[in-house]
Amino acid sequence: MRLESDQASAVDSREPGTDPCAKVTGVGSRGVGEGTDGMGDLVVVNGQVWTGNPANPRASAVAISGNRIRHVGTEAEARGEVSRDATVIDAGGRTVLPGLIDAHNHFLSTAEALASVNARYPTVASREDLIRVVGDWAEMTPPGRWIRAFGLDWAKFPDGRPPTQRDLDEATMGHPVVVYHVSGHHALVNSYAMRERGIAEDARDPAGGAFLRDAAGQLTGLCLDSATDLILPVALDIGCHGPNFHTILPGEDSVALLDAASRAYLQAGLTTVCDPQVTRRELAVYREAHRCGVLRLRTVMMPLSNHLEEYAAIGLAGPFGDDRLRIGALKLYADGTLIGGTAWFAEPYGEHGEFTGSTYWRPEQLRDLVVRAHRDGWQVGIHTQGDRAMGMTLDAIEAALRAAPRLDTRHRIEHCGYPTPAQVRRIADLGIIPVNQPNFLVDSGDDFLARLGERAHRLQPMREELDAGVRPVLSSDAFVSSFRPLATIAAAMLRRTRGGVPIGEEQKLTLDEALRAHTIDAAHSIRMEDRIGSLEPGKLADVTIVDGNLEAATPEEIDAMPVWLTMLDGETLWRLEEMAT
Ligand SMILES: [Zn+2]
Repeated sequence: MRLESDQASAVDSREPGTDPCAKVTGVGSRGVGEGTDGMGDLVVVNGQVWTGNPANPRASAVAISGNRIRHVGTEAEARGEVSRDATVIDAGGRTVLPGLIDAHNHFLSTAEALASVNARYPTVASREDLIRVVGDWAEMTPPGRWIRAFGLDWAKFPDGRPPTQRDLDEATMGHPVVVYHVSGHHALVNSYAMRERGIAEDARDPAGGAFLRDAAGQLTGLCLDSATDLILPVALDIGCHGPNFHTILPGEDSVALLDAASRAYLQAGLTTVCDPQVTRRELAVYREAHRCGVLRLRTVMMPLSNHLEEYAAIGLAGPFGDDRLRIGALKLYADGTLIGGTAWFAEPYGEHGEFTGSTYWRPEQLRDLVVRAHRDGWQVGIHTQGDRAMGMTLDAIEAALRAAPRLDTRHRIEHCGYPTPAQVRRIADLGIIPVNQPNFLVDSGDDFLARLGERAHRLQPMREELDAGVRPVLSSDAFVSSFRPLATIAAAMLRRTRGGVPIGEEQKLTLDEALRAHTIDAAHSIRMEDRIGSLEPGKLADVTIVDGNLEAATPEEIDAMPVWLTMLDGETLWRLEEMAT
């Protein structure tokens, strides 16, 4: 192990004899809300029901028995299917959806980010803003305790230049501070943190990363790629399998953080998430949350490829687990990040062609890993952004399918930023699922247009994919972007940057297509479409009711629309009116 800690997570650092469940209130077998009946009969009436089931696309009522959907149809039919004393929820003409599924959401990391300084644009739009928000946090934080901030995006600052450790020193000299770049790949630290971690002026750059220096050769506090691993103690060494944000922080209670984030997710209408980068650190926290009864959302874990050999040694491959917590696909990385400028394109990009991109593997290394994982029975999800990396990823999947032919593999490409038209056809031929994040087109679209020019309009070409018979999936990539599914749906329908500039308008999705991509097709990508993703008899009773009529709303209105009720397993876990009173 590269760094000294041998604790898998904050969970393992608990004192003997203390029960971490004692600090959180479990949902048990019943719901959190008074008057919800998780085990009895329930009927939702007077709704604009979008079912996600092509055989019965629209309805006005849903009948539920226990944790299963019993009937989807008219109010009279639904009432006839349940007992006379069934709980009735009058949806008041609101849109009723299958519980929304986020197929790429770093759940635990988002939970940590929610409990940290928000350094996102537009909250932090300048150096001065950054100093202010970190300074405010420092006043509430015991001296010497780490302060973390997420979402820094200096490309949006007036001068477009990264801040330095001296700026952070203005905010506090009494705490170590680390501010993560919005891409999650880079971090800025103050001089306290540098000292704390033993990084001095004579520090050497680690392989795969760098400490940025100024014109005079002095450290600026900015740590690029693998240099960020040296800033905070990480829970484990993941080699070069991906960016290492698996840090540990003594004193933080990860289960409580996850509990708080669960409530925020339910409020946003999510009922299932898939964490696309799980090491033994996350696995331990999710298991503990499940044990304590506070894993309020269905959670699918994608083990990172660093653990491939260990899973192989014990003969385990996904899917494995239960309807609340399960192991899904294996996660691998091909290239770097679009936002951070390390995505691998055939033609260099950037205003001066300065971004050539980089990969985690040579093509034959990625191929060998993918063939191995596929042979072991894994579905794989490969982080791939640029067209050059896309070629490498498609070659690897094709080699795997040739080496061990198997039906219905559903291999995924995470982000799938820039497949060429020919690559879209290969994606269709190989039965691959692109897992997209249109929020990036809003958050970073203006940067993409500046850096990629015309190519930016073909980022995440979902219309082309649909036309080719592919079923693209919508997801958030939270903590990198907002976890609100209605924001993601609106982004896919609008294709417009934060600056208001159209970005690939011909790739826009309709509301119907966007809903499919966030429900039934998302369920398909995590191999759970037999249990969730649509409202039809026999499926688990996961329901999201938005506070309005989606079909009568503009994308801007959809983006702003609250969620009125979220139900999981027939239990109401979020209700706007109850919570507001
Ligand atoms: Zn991600």
